[in-house]
Amino acid sequence: MKEQRWLVVRCPSCLRCTGQRSIPRSCTLCGQPLPRETEVVSEVESAALLQRAVALANTPEELRDELAFRIGVGHEDANRDTSASATMMALRKAAQGETISAEEVQRVLRSLNVQTPPTEFMALVEHEGLVLRLGHDRWQFIE
Ligand SMILES: [Zn+2]
Repeated sequence: MKEQRWLVVRCPSCLRCTGQRSIPRSCTLCGQPLPRETEVVSEVESAALLQRAVALANTPEELRDELAFRIGVGHEDANRDTSASATMMALRKAAQGETISAEEVQRVLRSLNVQTPPTEFMALVEHEGLVLRLGHDRWQFIE
């Protein structure tokens, strides 16, 4: 089976990231030429992952760690990803396959020393399609 790779490429002109099969001659967003050494932010194995990776790459730095879990791309520090996965595991455990409240989320986040406010964190998880928001302070895990 031929391995297919997708690239998340950051344009040095507009600093936005796009998903590409290979580095294009010019930025597909702003049209500026892309040098050969254009930054490849990450490589992923499927178009589905690519969509997430691009969203992640275009997410402001300070929100990126929270968004990085389970994706396995777009992070330089492997430990961060591990801690994000650990956070998700702890949340799932707290939810016990059911729903989780903002209060419980906060307890889990605090125990793991995660500074993000619970509603903000869960908004990111929701954005990732991992939970369903049931009310303003309650979520259900989808898987
Ligand atoms: Zn550009």
